[in-house]
Amino acid sequence: MTSRKGNDMTTAAAGQAEVDVAIIGAGMAGITLATVLGNAGRKVALIDPHRIHHDEFRAEKIGMSQMRLFEKLGLDKMLMPLVTPFTDIHVFRLGQYFAFEKKWEYAFSYGELINGMRDALPPQVPLTVGKVTEVSTGPDRQRLVLADGAVIDARLLVVATGYSEAIRRAIGVERVELSKAHSLSMGFDLAIAPQDCAYRSVTSYGKRASDRIAYLSVFPIGNRMRANMFVYRTVADQWTRDFRDNPQKMLCELMPEIAAQCGNFEVASPVEVRQVSLTSTKGHRRDGVVFIGDAFVTTCPTPGVGIGRVMVDVDQLCSVHIPRWLETPGMTADKINAFYDDPIKVASDEEGMRVSVYAKRITTETGLEWRVRRLRNNTARQLMIIGRKVRHLGLRREPGMA
Ligand SMILES: Cc1cc2nc3c(=O)[nH]c(=O)nc-3n(C[C@H](O)[C@H](O)[C@H](O)COP(=O)(O)OP(=O)(O)OC[C@H]3O[C@@H](n4cnc5c(N)ncnc54)[C@H](O)[C@@H]3O)c2cc1C
Repeated sequence: MTSRKGNDMTTAAAGQAEVDVAIIGAGMAGITLATVLGNAGRKVALIDPHRIHHDEFRAEKIGMSQMRLFEKLGLDKMLMPLVTPFTDIHVFRLGQYFAFEKKWEYAFSYGELINGMRDALPPQVPLTVGKVTEVSTGPDRQRLVLADGAVIDARLLVVATGYSEAIRRAIGVERVELSKAHSLSMGFDLAIAPQDCAYRSVTSYGKRASDRIAYLSVFPIGNRMRANMFVYRTVADQWTRDFRDNPQKMLCELMPEIAAQCGNFEVASPVEVRQVSLTSTKGHRRDGVVFIGDAFVTTCPTPGVGIGRVMVDVDQLCSVHIPRWLETPGMTADKINAFYDDPIKVASDEEGMRVSVYAKRITTETGLEWRVRRLRNNTARQLMIIGRKVRHLGLRREPGMA
């Protein structure tokens, strides 16, 4: 096992700990919440079964609006050494060059980012590596028992266990599937090095509804060129199997307009595939415990709103709700419900769900309404492409015409 610097607290140090807030799950939601609460002087326990977050395909970039939320929470300095910032995004639509975007984005490998953030936890927030075997929640105190017999007693329990069901089930909370196998995300490395690629970054949207492709995004992570492709298919589809067998051939056929600039799509890693469903939660309004991030709602990776939602949860909890809850005795459901009913949190979750559904419908729906919408959007885009070409030609002629 790789050794990690810093403040791990293994369950060998078994005993009884009393804290303000116990957080189960040290992913993006759990770590950011623990860091901000720890820096604010709260006594926090953070528990995860793994010292090192394994390298799994999850979010691989965030945009400026998400970075602003990290800045607001004072976490941007911790984040910046762990990400690859880039700008200059070439956008292709309808198989043609469409736009050049100057906006900033920040790329990373999820596992490396989470491990870097764990290393940067403040010393007063140790990571307890262990398995929670018993959870009891109530209107005053929350009690966790770990596999080695250690007991953590907290005023508030935060569940930040992502897609995992064990703790949610132990508490009696249900996941509700809103759209099963909603989309498929695929991630792989390209063989071309960032300095040899004609684009710093490129986004290429699917051309036909029948392709069921939202878009391909190619961007740098350190010294690798990484590709994320979002499609509306299932893992079992023949198309998906064909893509995994020969991604280069399929990409060259699907997006020939950018193939040469991307090293003819030579692929340098296996294609990682993740099927994602849209889910919400039932039975969460209870004493003593709050569910956040993907442990509460899962949206689609295509519109890239997951981490934004996590950060809104953390921000509203740290800046509004937890300070209020800890000010007075007790931790009843009435208090906790203020978070679930918080208009900023509700709007963030609703918007995440809305764009997740819209992105799929505008790409794949074949009913008249959606065909008309696509025609309207694509006509406007085609006119923009023609306008830009005309302006370009005009500029080139000008010197001779003068
Ligand atoms: C393929 C893919 C691509 C994505 N792309 C994007 C993107 O481009 N942009 C974007 O904004 N979002 C994206 N997302 C969404 C984003 O990754 C998630 O919304 C975000 O990572 C959720 O963080 P979290 O902390 O809630 O959960 P996680 O990061 O999953 O953390 C959960 C933690 O809980 C721990 N845990 C689990 N069970 C237990 C237990 N029993 N006891 C203790 N700890 C436990 C786990 O070890 C883990 O550390 C993507 C998601 C996927 C799947």
